[in-house]
Amino acid sequence: MININRLICNIGNTLLEVLETINENGRGIAFVVEPGNRLHGILTDGDIRRLLLNGHQLHEHIQPLVNKEFVYARTTDSYRDIVAKTSDSVKILPIVDDDFQVVDFFEFSPSLFVPAAYPMLNGSEFKYLVDAFMSSWISSTGYYIDRFEKDFSQYCGCPHGVATSNGTTAIHLALEALGIGPGDEVIVPSLTFAATVNAVLHANATPVIVDIEKKSWCIDPKEIETHITPKTKAVIPVHVYGQPCDMEAVMDIARRKNIYVVEDCAEAHGAEVNGQKVGSFGHINCFSFFANKIITTGEGGMCLTHSPELDERMRVLRDHGMSKSKKYWHEAVGYNYRMTNLQAAVGVAQVERITEVLGSRDSVENQYRSALGTLPHVRFQQRGLRGRKKVTWFVCILVEPGQRDLFITKLKEARIDARPFFYPLHQMAIYKQYRGTAPNAEDISRRGIMLPASPLVVNPEVIQTIKQVLKQDNKS
Ligand SMILES: *Cc1c(COP(=O)(O)O)cnc(C)c1O
Repeated sequence: MININRLICNIGNTLLEVLETINENGRGIAFVVEPGNRLHGILTDGDIRRLLLNGHQLHEHIQPLVNKEFVYARTTDSYRDIVAKTSDSVKILPIVDDDFQVVDFFEFSPSLFVPAAYPMLNGSEFKYLVDAFMSSWISSTGYYIDRFEKDFSQYCGCPHGVATSNGTTAIHLALEALGIGPGDEVIVPSLTFAATVNAVLHANATPVIVDIEKKSWCIDPKEIETHITPKTKAVIPVHVYGQPCDMEAVMDIARRKNIYVVEDCAEAHGAEVNGQKVGSFGHINCFSFFANKIITTGEGGMCLTHSPELDERMRVLRDHGMSKSKKYWHEAVGYNYRMTNLQAAVGVAQVERITEVLGSRDSVENQYRSALGTLPHVRFQQRGLRGRKKVTWFVCILVEPGQRDLFITKLKEARIDARPFFYPLHQMAIYKQYRGTAPNAEDISRRGIMLPASPLVVNPEVIQTIKQVLKQDNKS
C-alpha cells in the first residue's frame, strides 16, 4: 500500500511532471487536484500516451487536458459499493470526502475475491457481544447462553436446546446421551460432510453408510430400511445443502424398527417438512453455527430435544459429566463441549433475524436461477419436493461430470470461490470399510458445484461472471 500523496498531482503541473509522478508511484495513474486538494480529474499513463500521439508536448500544462470523466468513490460508500465501481479498466480510484477533497484511494488487487461464504453480522451481533464481554461472563455461564438455547429451540419448535462448542460435538453428545457405543450400528448417508460419520466413530459405534435419493440428494428411506440389522441403534438423516430429508418416511421407519433418529441440521436451519421445522422431528437434533452456515456463532452447535431426560443428560455430559446438584461429583465420563456466552451473544442476534437472513439467501438463489436457468447443461437443486421446503445454504448446481473441475478452476481464476460437492464418504480410504457402493451419491458428487450464496458478496455482476464461465460449454 502506498501513501496517497504519491498519487496526487497539481492542476498547475505540466504533462512531464505528471509523467514523473506516475513513473515514481508505479501505479499508472495520477489524481489531479485543485488548490485546497479538491479533486479535479484523473490522468493515466495511457491518457498521456494518447495526448503525445495527438501532438501535445510534455511541457504543456495539464489543466485543459485532464480527463474529467472519471470514476471515484466517496468516504460514505460501503466497501461493496467501492468494489462494484472497479472494472477491467478501472483498478484504482480516488476516495473523496463531502468537500470533494481527496482523502484516500482504493486499489483493486487480484487477491480480492468472492468468498464461498460471508456471514451476515450487521445486526445486533456486535452490540450483544460487547455486552457479554463487559458483563465479564465470558465462559459458558451467562445470560446469552440461556437465551440462545431458548430462542433457537423455540424458533425450531422443539422445547429443549443444549448449546455446544460446535456441530461435531453436538452430534457426538447426542449419540453419547442416547447410550450409543461399541457394537452399535448407526446409519448415515454417503453424501455429507465428514463430521457426521466422524461423530459416530468418536462414539466408538459402527457407521453404516447408505445411498441417497437422486431427487433430493438426502438419505434414501428405502436404503435405511434395507440396512437395518439387530445392531442398528440410530439413523442420522442429514438435511444436506439446505434440503430437508423425507422425515415422514424416516420417522415411520424409526418407529416401526425402534431406532433413534438424530437429525443433522447443520446445513438447513429453518428448512421445513409439512410445515414443521427440521430439528424438531428426531430424538435429538443437531445444528452447527460454524461461520459458513446459515446462521453462525463463529464456532458453535446445538442439540434440540423434546425429552426433558435427554436434555438433562446432555447438560451433564457437556460439562465433564458433573452432577447438576452436587458440585465436583461426576456421574459419567463427560466432556467439555460447552459454548461460551460470547458466542451465544452473537447467536442471539443471529436468531433475531434468521427470517431476514433466509429471505435474502433465497432471493440470491432466485437471481442465480433466472440468470443461469437457461443454460442447458446446468441443473439446479430441486425445490418444491412434496411437503419439503428447502432453504438456501450454498446455491447448488449440477453440470456434466467431465466439466465440473474445469468450471471450478475457471471460477477460481475469476476470483469466485466455487467448491465441489462433498466426496461420497465410502470412496475415502478411512471410511471404505463401512459401505459397498452408493451410485446416486457418486453421480451427484461428481457433478455438483457449490456457489456462494451470501447476499453480502453475491451481486448481479458476480452472477454474470459465473454465467460467462458456465456458458462456455467446455468439453474436457
Ligand atoms: C458443518 C457440518 C457439521 C459440523 O459442524 P462443525 O460446527 O463444523 O463441527 C456436521 N454436519 C454437517 C452436515 C455439516 O455441514
